[in-house]
Amino acid sequence: MDNCIFCKIVEGKIPCAKIYEDELVLAFLDISPICKGHALVIPREHHQSISSVPENIAGRITHVAGRIGIAFKRALDADGFNFHLSDGACAGQVVWHAHMHVVPRGPEDGFRWNWRQLKYDSDAERNDFVEKIKSKLKT
Ligand code: 5GP
Ligand code: ZN
Repeated sequence: MDNCIFCKIVEGKIPCAKIYEDELVLAFLDISPICKGHALVIPREHHQSISSVPENIAGRITHVAGRIGIAFKRALDADGFNFHLSDGACAGQVVWHAHMHVVPRGPEDGFRWNWRQLKYDSDAERNDFVEKIKSKLKT
């Protein structure tokens, strides 16, 4: 894909700090880490959205991200890790080649997700969300 920075990384046209690669995916350090060690796992194939990534490749992305999380604990003394994936501009996606973030975490790392907790107005409203989502969910 022309003009895709992550395709250029896959093709070796621009450098990256690579930590893993196989026939389906590549993993390298994020250039501006939330915490040092923050990694990205990407499919070799160009897909703008994770929703179009074939199941075997999406599964490999998740598997490798989990293994990287374990490596963070073993090698970086991390206590835990976050997965993060932005799909769409409103969700914060800025690179249009699907990617999974894996962020090593510790109790004193100084980072907090800005996570709010809304409430449904009623059981009926919550059930309405369930029915609408189920009606369009195709796996
Ligand atoms: P998004 O918001 O799209 O989920 O995140 C894109 C991520 O890619 C950002 O965290 C950003 O720091 C990272 N990034 C952008 N350009 C490059 C690059 O050229 N090399 C590397 N290693 N990371 C990049
Ligand atoms: Zn791409």
